[in-house]
Amino acid sequence: MKLLDALNKRKEHNQELEDEKVLNKIKEVIKNADAILIGAGAGLSTSAGLSYSGKRFEDNFSDFIDKYGMEDMYSAGFYPFNTQEEKWAYWSKHIFYNRYDVGATEVYRQLYQLVEEKNYFVLTTNVDHQFELTGFENERIFATQGDYGMFQCAKGCHNKLYENENVVKEMIVKQKDCKIPTSLVPICPVCGGHMEVNLRIDGDFVQDENWYKAADKYSSFLEENQNKKLVFFELGVGMNTPGIIKYPFWQMTNQWSNAFYICINKGEAWAPDEIRERSICIDGDIGQVLEVLGNEERVQ
Ligand SMILES: [Zn+2]
Repeated sequence: MKLLDALNKRKEHNQELEDEKVLNKIKEVIKNADAILIGAGAGLSTSAGLSYSGKRFEDNFSDFIDKYGMEDMYSAGFYPFNTQEEKWAYWSKHIFYNRYDVGATEVYRQLYQLVEEKNYFVLTTNVDHQFELTGFENERIFATQGDYGMFQCAKGCHNKLYENENVVKEMIVKQKDCKIPTSLVPICPVCGGHMEVNLRIDGDFVQDENWYKAADKYSSFLEENQNKKLVFFELGVGMNTPGIIKYPFWQMTNQWSNAFYICINKGEAWAPDEIRERSICIDGDIGQVLEVLGNEERVQ
């Protein structure tokens, strides 16, 4: 037994040393980078505490859970409501709790501290505005899939977005029995049809002038840094939409010989053989890893 204990302890110790080596390597890569491209998916916000299920959902949506049998905010987002009054009663709360009720979270702050002195850019599929709330520069963020804080025409009849904070808050205050008053149902000012949250759910997603500007900035960032020490820093990107962040990051790392790929994701963290020598993948909680990376005492 004693021998087994000793062996296990040794294994743990070796694992710790291995983990430390990996984390120090990430620090070194980031420190020496000319540019850092953050690619962020849902796992980053989940790690930051913005979970779509569990207590956070049950505490804030009990009336909707009772009425519709909803199980989490993700699937509830696809619920086929019969009326606009019911739809916006739900969606105002969904938007509020994910966009207006939360300030900057610790995990995003840690990420910001890691890159704020660097030449960075953010490509994200998250729609919760966390990067902006944390202090990342607007000019350096491309949120490809929309923003909870914006409404658009449901049919995309014109390319304009509308800030929704005031109306969302009013919908929450004035809703009763999971319905908002008809007078608060948002109407498209151009075609008179329904409005929708600016989320890429179908082909009617509106990409306004700012979206195209951000897309251009993303292209320029890649162009300017493709021959430099560019680090692709992928956080919490799953396999829902790998074509936006994950696959391009792999391909560009492969094509550009000075590039390096870092992936942190709980459950799915790996890189193809072609780039394995210029990759570090950590299967773990992003918040915990960022906390260790931010801890100056560990810098060697
Ligand atoms: Zn319209």
